[in-house]
Amino acid sequence: MVKNKILSHNPEETILIAAKFARNLRAGDIVFLKGELGAGKTTFTKGLAQALRVKEAEVNSPTFILMNYYEGKLPIYHFDFYRINQESELSTMDLDEYIYGKGISVIEWPERLGKLAPQEFFQVDIGHKSEYQRMFEFSAAGEGFRIRLEKMMARIK
Ligand code: ADP
Ligand code: MG
Repeated sequence: MVKNKILSHNPEETILIAAKFARNLRAGDIVFLKGELGAGKTTFTKGLAQALRVKEAEVNSPTFILMNYYEGKLPIYHFDFYRINQESELSTMDLDEYIYGKGISVIEWPERLGKLAPQEFFQVDIGHKSEYQRMFEFSAAGEGFRIRLEKMMARIK
């Protein structure tokens, strides 16, 4: 598969990259965001939400409550599973209703979902290069997502 890498030089550029990526998102899409703490997952989510007409100020890390909901052009479910240590901790949450629902699901720390993780998704791997440099690598799982990713990348570059 083609490598889709883009280097960001500051948070504003990350927001712009995310906003361009988000323009082709549709109801039901799932976006995994991977990278260490401080990589820029939440910053990327701000750009994504901005493109879907959510006020940037609303977007913050849902670390303590697992999910934030934003009302934009489409509903956005912003998850952060950093604090999840076992899948069983998620059983009380109607995860599937959200991620297979009519909104866009953005998931920080999708690794924590284990077997509960969906099989088809866009994925953004964020590498922390230096104080202000972040390498964004975009990929996709599932045929539909892979085909669409190619088009989305053409719009970002
Ligand atoms: P995460 O959600 O991955 O833990 P955040 O988005 O909350 O990360 O935080 C990223 C931090 O890194 C912010 O303080 C942001 O200002 C800073 N930063 C510096 N350069 C960048 C960049 N190019 N892209 C995104 N964030 C950056
Ligand atoms: Mg975060």
